[in-house]
Amino acid sequence: MIQEFIELHGARENNLKNVSLRIPKRKITIFTGVSGSGKSSIVFDTIASEAQRQLYENFSMFVRNFLPRYAQPDADSIENLNMPIVVDQKRMGGGSHSTVGTITDIYTVLRLLFSKIGQPYVGHYNVFSFNDPQGMCPECNGIGRKLGVDLEKFLDMSKSLNEGAILFGAYGVGKWDWNFLTESGLFDNDKKLEDYTEEELDRLLYSPPFKVKTDMGANSINLTFEGIIAKFTRKYITTDIKTYSERTQKQVEPYITTGPCRACKGTRLSQTTLSCKINGYNIAEMAAMEAGELVHVIRQVDDTAAQSMVETLTERLQHLVDIGLEYLSLNRETDTLSGGESQRVKIVKHLSSSLSDVMYIFDEPSVGLHPRDVHRLNDLLQKLRDKGNTVIVVEHDPDVIKVADHIVDVGPLAGTHGGTIVYEGSFDGLLQADTVTGNHMQHAMRLKETFRKPSGQLAIKNAKVNNLQNLDVDIPTGVLTVVTGVAGSGKSSLINETLLHQHADAIVIDQSEVGANSRSTPATYTGMMDEIRKDFAKANKVSQSLFSFNSEGACENCQGLGVVYISLAFLDEAKTPCEVCGGKRFKDEVLEYKLNGKSIADVLSMTVEEALGYFTNKKILNTLQAMNDVGLNYLSLGQPLSTLSGGECQRIKLASELHKGGSIYVMDEPTTGLHMSDTSQLLEVINRIVDNGNTVVVIEHNLDIIKNADWIIDMGPEGGHKGGQILFEGTPKDLLSLDTSYTAQFLRSDLQ
Ligand code: ADP
Ligand code: ADP
Ligand code: ZN
Ligand code: ZN
Repeated sequence: MIQEFIELHGARENNLKNVSLRIPKRKITIFTGVSGSGKSSIVFDTIASEAQRQLYENFSMFVRNFLPRYAQPDADSIENLNMPIVVDQKRMGGGSHSTVGTITDIYTVLRLLFSKIGQPYVGHYNVFSFNDPQGMCPECNGIGRKLGVDLEKFLDMSKSLNEGAILFGAYGVGKWDWNFLTESGLFDNDKKLEDYTEEELDRLLYSPPFKVKTDMGANSINLTFEGIIAKFTRKYITTDIKTYSERTQKQVEPYITTGPCRACKGTRLSQTTLSCKINGYNIAEMAAMEAGELVHVIRQVDDTAAQSMVETLTERLQHLVDIGLEYLSLNRETDTLSGGESQRVKIVKHLSSSLSDVMYIFDEPSVGLHPRDVHRLNDLLQKLRDKGNTVIVVEHDPDVIKVADHIVDVGPLAGTHGGTIVYEGSFDGLLQADTVTGNHMQHAMRLKETFRKPSGQLAIKNAKVNNLQNLDVDIPTGVLTVVTGVAGSGKSSLINETLLHQHADAIVIDQSEVGANSRSTPATYTGMMDEIRKDFAKANKVSQSLFSFNSEGACENCQGLGVVYISLAFLDEAKTPCEVCGGKRFKDEVLEYKLNGKSIADVLSMTVEEALGYFTNKKILNTLQAMNDVGLNYLSLGQPLSTLSGGECQRIKLASELHKGGSIYVMDEPTTGLHMSDTSQLLEVINRIVDNGNTVVVIEHNLDIIKNADWIIDMGPEGGHKGGQILFEGTPKDLLSLDTSYTAQFLRSDLQ
């Protein structure tokens, strides 16, 4: 068969310098290169964008009006494209009705299965849908959650009634409601609530109203007792709280929260629907099982009438397991998935389709995967290729890069120092290539030998969130701690949901977007812009506000954006440089004012590197140096923040936090989007932060980060209910000798 190619000529998006290349069809091509070198500019901004545009050209004008718009990428020609499917790490929204089961269509098939062979028969299949009025729980309308009482705020389980176990004000010791409760003779007033039997607690909290004879003072009177939560719910939740005085509303609101619906126990389905079972399980119980368990349960369904459904279900569930998501359940809401989990769920969705000859484009699919599970991802990429698809991947993990049929290395460095192709060819060839990627692949990082001494401990007590098995852990302060373990083992539950709750003053450095509005830039975000405006104002003896593109100095035509959006009915919206200021964003008269020979527009188009040689202001230089230190020397001061990648967002946050001392920093997979050489640079920054007296806690799979930890907390042994335990706490050196840990195993093989 003749090898066909996607042909790209003269691509110039962002930093690309007239890039031309050929991508083999029906093969796996992996793009590598330092962060900011131009990989996304080629793959997403040029190839995917043009393919999407060509696809939409086929639709009528009417339909096109409802689709996102794509301008033609800046390139001489892009030919021979296939239909694109972009599988990215964008979190899936979709609201509370979107789950892993619905998004992968697995739940649809499960519903069909129940309507066909479930016993007793309860109706045509819509009754198994919580989106359908027939099937949804009438109490919560299929949401699964309702306003309820925050029991943790309402009760102190470690106390007795006499000690003031009920924290809600009206039941304060000595108050009327408390008197009645303790005089009622219904409860043991000295027993701690945590020692109550289930029945006693149920009576205290949820009992329906009944009459009791009570000795209040000298008199014996008949009063009505009602469970305290039941009463609170009736008074303040079922009744519109707005009918009470503002003072009462303020007192009551802290105790109200959204919790699982008590009628359907969060399953969202009506009682009739829940009575229908297969092999003893109802549909909600199946949807709550981890995929790895459910696939076994489904395999045991033996009914000729349902054979093809069982096969379909088994195959799709097996895909979830194969890609390392065996710990997810079908009822898991998609907006609670991490970026990496979202991307893998999307891959599963596509594997079930029978499409071929399409172009799949992935953005770092290894994110969130432990080294143990990377081979599973590789298998799936190869499966997609073997179905006759073209697979294009941006990736930094050497274990994924290995499976490429063809590699394109972009560089040599980032920004203006990148934008060219430095190597094209096989994996073996890359190992010989004298490029940043090639060099890093040849030299594995060494294990650290000496470890910092902790200055103290942060104690985590009774951690029980999600799958955590009531853990007590001490996190050492003043050192670099890395939390490891396979996906789903409980790392985020321990750090993001427990440590951050118990020690709320920690600084979280994540990859979420930083741009507050379309005018935000690195200069405004880091606070440097205020100093720049002061310097310009002082040098020219005019007002500072002239030099802000949010105010009077801004070009009036584009309001300081530098571009204008033209949208005409039935035509694609186009973004064009502003005619008045030519993209400079300021009024002409403002550009007359100079600082050391440069206008404000000249300054904003400088890169960090150039600006370091231009400014003399100490504060500005410190900020620029911090940006340089986190590897953002190629970024221009005025580049819109909305165009930064996740990795770049994370590093700009780091740069603005660098100078602080005595704080706790928490980072979740900071190497996402980073090349091996960027990772070394990030490590230097992290080390500097720790050396300034800070505590850094990092969740990571990246072995180079693990090798540089002072302290490792390894979680496992597996994901989901088979995880949630601490396997190891100690230095990476001691971890090496541990037999039971996957992390130890992969660390050993990497060091060989
Ligand atoms: P990579 O994917 O290799 O990390 P990118 O293709 O995202 O690199 O970026 C290449 C360069 O182009 C970087 O300097 C980046 O900051 C810059 N860049 C990316 N998008 C834009 C944009 N919309 N406007 C201006 N510069 C951009
Ligand atoms: P890790 O960070 O190690 O990948 P997580 O802490 O995210 O692991 O997950 C641990 C377990 O808790 C998994 O079984 C996961 O599916 C479950 N889990 C995590 N977040 C949620 C959530 N918001 N709702 C329900 N289950 C969750
Ligand atoms: Zn309900
Ligand atoms: Zn303008």
